[in-house]
Amino acid sequence: MEDRVHAAISDGSRLGIMGGTFDPIHYGHLVAAETARTEFRLDNVLFIPTGIPPHKVSRHIADAELRYTMVELAIKDNANFKVSRIEIKRQGPSYTSVTLRELHHIFPEQELFFITGADALKDILTWRDADEIIRTTNIIGATRPGYDASGFLEELYVRFPFAQSKIFQMEIPALAISSTDIHFRLENNKSIRYLLPEEVRSFIMNNNIYRDK
Ligand code: NAP
Repeated sequence: MEDRVHAAISDGSRLGIMGGTFDPIHYGHLVAAETARTEFRLDNVLFIPTGIPPHKVSRHIADAELRYTMVELAIKDNANFKVSRIEIKRQGPSYTSVTLRELHHIFPEQELFFITGADALKDILTWRDADEIIRTTNIIGATRPGYDASGFLEELYVRFPFAQSKIFQMEIPALAISSTDIHFRLENNKSIRYLLPEEVRSFIMNNNIYRDK
């Protein structure tokens, strides 16, 4: 299965890597991936749901296979989007540096662009092998409207001056939608319709994924 996914994206020269917990995936993530694809002329975007996020080892998140299936349902009508189990299959915390090392090895000819939320990236200096990540990979931070990343970027550029040509920001108004808000709505019996693809919403409801919410 992974081999088929890798073969399908091995042709291009610029590959987006969309990293996230996706608990659950929603339209904000999809718009961010599509905007990155077009603005950065990416041939494909590979969604990588985290297995065990290193910063969330003690927090409850939905089962990895369920999050993977929700991503699969959400992207199935976009031929340039694929999803990978690379982090789900790995034992232990999902370190981004390990994932990127593996992907550079599988796609040695492709330029990689790691796309994620700017809120997550602001902590990148604390991530394992942060300097290696920034040296080897372009980073795209998707921001919510009104989010100001300048403080974190200044600190980052002091530590790693070369990062100035490797880190990009992209404002995504659709990121006003958030997984946290979807949890809140489920908890309060509010509708989540139109915040995420209908098939994902049905899957959540039919499988009672956030039943404690
Ligand atoms: P998070 O802390 O759950 O999310 C932080 C913020 O970023 C949230 O507002 C989230 O919105 C948003 N976000 C997350 N992924 C996004 C995406 N792909 N596109 C747009 N917005 C996104 O972060 P996370 O999802 O667990 O982690 C994000 C990525 O960073 C993952 O690939 C993770 O493995 C990596 N990471 C690596 C390390 C490490 O290697 N040490 C540490 C932390 C994170 P929603 O809640 O709406 O998604």
